[in-house]
Amino acid sequence: MEYNGNVCEDLKLLKAEEKYLNSEQKVYWCENCNIPTYYDFCPICDGKTRYLCQDARPVFPEEILLLEILLNIRGRLVGKSIWNAKGNRYYVNGKRLAFSVKNILREWDPKRVRVLLQQEKIKDLDLGYDEFNDMINLFIKANKERLHKLEEDSFRCVKFAVDNYPNRIVMVSFSGGKDSTVVSSVVRRALGTNNVLHVFGDTTLEFPATKEYVKYFRKKNRRIPFLTARVPSDKLDEEDGEKFLQLCNIIGPPSRIMRWCCTTFKTAPISSLIDKFSGNKSILTFYGIRSSESVRRSKYKEISISPKISKQIVASPIMDWLDLDVWLYLLSNKEEFNDAYRQGFSRVGCWCCPSNSDWAYFLSQIYLDEKADEWRDFLIDFARRIGKPDPEVYVDSGNWKARQGGDGMNVNFNNVKFEPCANEENARNYFLSKPISGQLYEYFKPFGIVNFSLGRKLLNEVYILDRNTKEPLLILQGREGASQLKVIIVRDYNLNLLLNRIDCQIRKYQACINCGGCPAICKKKAIAIIGDHYKIDQKKCVGCMDCIAHYDRGCLVAKVTQVRSGS
Ligand code: SF4
Ligand code: SF4
Ligand SMILES: [Zn+2]
Repeated sequence: MEYNGNVCEDLKLLKAEEKYLNSEQKVYWCENCNIPTYYDFCPICDGKTRYLCQDARPVFPEEILLLEILLNIRGRLVGKSIWNAKGNRYYVNGKRLAFSVKNILREWDPKRVRVLLQQEKIKDLDLGYDEFNDMINLFIKANKERLHKLEEDSFRCVKFAVDNYPNRIVMVSFSGGKDSTVVSSVVRRALGTNNVLHVFGDTTLEFPATKEYVKYFRKKNRRIPFLTARVPSDKLDEEDGEKFLQLCNIIGPPSRIMRWCCTTFKTAPISSLIDKFSGNKSILTFYGIRSSESVRRSKYKEISISPKISKQIVASPIMDWLDLDVWLYLLSNKEEFNDAYRQGFSRVGCWCCPSNSDWAYFLSQIYLDEKADEWRDFLIDFARRIGKPDPEVYVDSGNWKARQGGDGMNVNFNNVKFEPCANEENARNYFLSKPISGQLYEYFKPFGIVNFSLGRKLLNEVYILDRNTKEPLLILQGREGASQLKVIIVRDYNLNLLLNRIDCQIRKYQACINCGGCPAICKKKAIAIIGDHYKIDQKKCVGCMDCIAHYDRGCLVAKVTQVRSGS
């Protein structure tokens, strides 16, 4: 289910407050001072500035070195004021740099770049940081008014949220990226305390630089309560990314429109961690989402009900900030940040994310060493398995990111096969792709109370009783280990809907890999993954059916492995 724009009434109040916004979202350039500003005049030299772009980020000396290598212009960019604008356009001292990602990807082998970078860094340890810092100091000086307004505005948002949602556990959702670094700082400064819980969702697919940064952050801020949410390991010494590859083998790698991994490796672990520590208390989460980040995200509001995790109010005090604002804040306040930005990544997340640009994929291959090679090998092997005629081209051209459904894969678990019972009305014989086990009945708990004692033992009958009247709704007949299951509908209010839901739950039983999707959906916290078992707590379940209706076809795995008709 997509976020439905459900916004708290109180948001209107916040919106109504006068806010400082760069309504035009323009970045200007001062030729004299060689820096970007937000104004059509330069606050330092008072000269007239000219429009540069909509948004920009600084290019750090490490990335400058990389550019010099890739463009064969060693020594010609160092010490210059270089900024990167949307669409990966570089400006050197305010002039557009001739740069084509396509040409670079065609001409360069990332492994070769890796070696050259190492050689250059050994030669030139300074990398031009003195000139870079002078330039940044001027940028900070020119834009201090803007920073002041941004800080005021974000502090007000934090205080407003805390005052209006009292008695909640306040937490910062921390990803190790620049936006959450800013949010962490803004929230702690606004509230005047370090005693704000931080929850880091370790996807196990993080950049090495992110892992380093999180380690550093924790060491430097020992007073900040810090929890890490991670997908449960199947074994003690499970390596980062191991479980991800196992799941990719079963349901295929994620693609742009099927990013199942976000649920499994981020939302579900965070949600389950929150359930563990929050008890009955609700949560107020501060996170670093920004409207300028993408059109999809621009639907979010400063304060809203979480579209992903139940019982959460989420607030973003930097919703209206530009990239340039984020950098202005970090650099002015001398906040340490993730080194991946110095390397040239404009956003950090998972190294394997299908939403990463071709450029980010190229950078990952340079900075990730064997992890990137392993991922490429996996993708090529997968492409071969699903019958792609030219697997290497399919992978290197980025076509794998556009994959849809389970074409070419063995996804038997998706098919729900049945025939109507010849002898009994309103009964179906299902032919399951996975033999019957005790697990099957967990998926029937949303319908009612599962009762093992009322039915005839000889027929292995299990009754599903109405929660209120305790009268039978369904009767299941099936022997453990067998693949035939008879479902008899005893009573119903809407037969088609009920049959549809039964199909969904049978599909879920067959397809379930305990991805964590269902527990994150259930508002009553009735669903848990215990070991590799899917469990519904009968006492907590109220039969709302959200866990059936949430995903198309009832299950995230079934949804992403759906085979298009005609394939
Ligand atoms: S039933 Fe599907 S969506 Fe639910 S936990 Fe299992 S795999 Fe995930
Ligand atoms: S989502 Fe609703 S039906 Fe499903 S387990 Fe939770 S309470 Fe029960
Ligand atoms: Zn100037």
